Amino acid sequence: MQHRIPAGKHGPISDEMTAAVSTCVHCGFCLAACPTYEQLGQEPDSPRGRIVLMKEVLEGELSIADASDHLDRCLGCLACEPACPSGVLYRNLISPFRSCVEPERKRTWIERLSRAMTQATLPYPTRFRIAANLGRLARPLAPMMPTSIASMLRLLPKRLPKRQSWAAVTPALGKRTARVALLTGCAQSVLDPDINTATIDVLTRSGIEVCIPHGQGCCGALSWHVGNGPQAQRFARVNLEAFPEGVDAIVTNAAGCGSGMKEYPLILKGTQYEELARSFSAKVMDVSVALTKLGRVPPFPQQRLPVRIAYHDACHLSNAQGVVEEPRELLRRIPGVEVLEIPEGHSCCGSAGTYNVDQPEIAAALGDQKVSHAMSVHPDLIATGNIGCLTQLSKHLEQRGGSIPVRHTIQVLRDAYLDRPLRSP
Ligand code: SF4
Ligand code: SF4
Repeated sequence: MQHRIPAGKHGPISDEMTAAVSTCVHCGFCLAACPTYEQLGQEPDSPRGRIVLMKEVLEGELSIADASDHLDRCLGCLACEPACPSGVLYRNLISPFRSCVEPERKRTWIERLSRAMTQATLPYPTRFRIAANLGRLARPLAPMMPTSIASMLRLLPKRLPKRQSWAAVTPALGKRTARVALLTGCAQSVLDPDINTATIDVLTRSGIEVCIPHGQGCCGALSWHVGNGPQAQRFARVNLEAFPEGVDAIVTNAAGCGSGMKEYPLILKGTQYEELARSFSAKVMDVSVALTKLGRVPPFPQQRLPVRIAYHDACHLSNAQGVVEEPRELLRRIPGVEVLEIPEGHSCCGSAGTYNVDQPEIAAALGDQKVSHAMSVHPDLIATGNIGCLTQLSKHLEQRGGSIPVRHTIQVLRDAYLDRPLRSP
């Protein structure tokens, strides 16, 4: 696409944004893959429409106020990338763009409040635990609250699990095949700390030593995707310092964190940390990939009853990191497990970071649609690789009175090793 974006005007990430705009040939193949285009049916809510809007804002031809509704509705799910025959890297446009224009955005007080609340609590486990406990008390007041705050309150679980802690180093069982450093995450470590416990269990059973670097923090993905570039850079720098260089991989068990850490070179573009960010991000691996590439996954016991598992692709695992087969393959190794495909599997569940708070109506429609599709294949349980998806699917299943458990893939693998029944008799 031809453009007149002034070279370098928008800072160090100008080149990436301009390259994404100029690679788009306006063919429209991405439209069918885009969940917001499917929901709203309007060109400006499609990937192609958004690229044009961002181009015009960057050229100075359109005000951000005139484009912001459509751009805010973008989930950042990246379903448009694998659908694009020209290889447009939409990820190099949407988050840098949001970060570039954020200082000029005029927001309502309620938008400012909900952004401040999420950005000041979600990335910090201790603050998030306190806020989540207070939020659960305030849940009965949700109908009287503005939609975004009410939506935030409704997402909170009825009770928070107990805190868990993990050893700085957990040695491999048997002969060591690799040594990895694990990101323990922020919101996930509060909402479901057992995911980290299960991750350490399965990795060490597979011959992989796991260390938990002291001083690590939030990956920064949440801040990056909502246009808070300075906060994302701060988090990225903290992790560059905290994680040791002498490990075979930096392992994540939350799709959004993995893709966020792979974006560190873009987040830190033009800073003194850019090179370090490049070598760091090259080592970032989802736990399913680490097990497949670095481990010797031992055999699982036979399940007492056959188990039908619907696997839900988290967008930031499948679209952003290209991790599709590894989790399915690991689940299929459990004797008695059948892995089911969810119809319209490419479509986002509507979780997408803080999308439930920012765009509650579309998030709810997508969540409900995903649950309908998942239920249509009659699974005994649903497995996925991201805490956001897990929370969203659980909430929508609960609203329908469904009793299908939703588990992280690594929890399913751990439970299979422990010979726990994966489905109820
Ligand atoms: S498929 Fe790719 S090239 Fe075609 S309109 Fe969409 S983003 Fe542009
Ligand atoms: S990231 Fe997702 S919601 Fe945004 S334009 Fe691409 S497909 Fe549509």
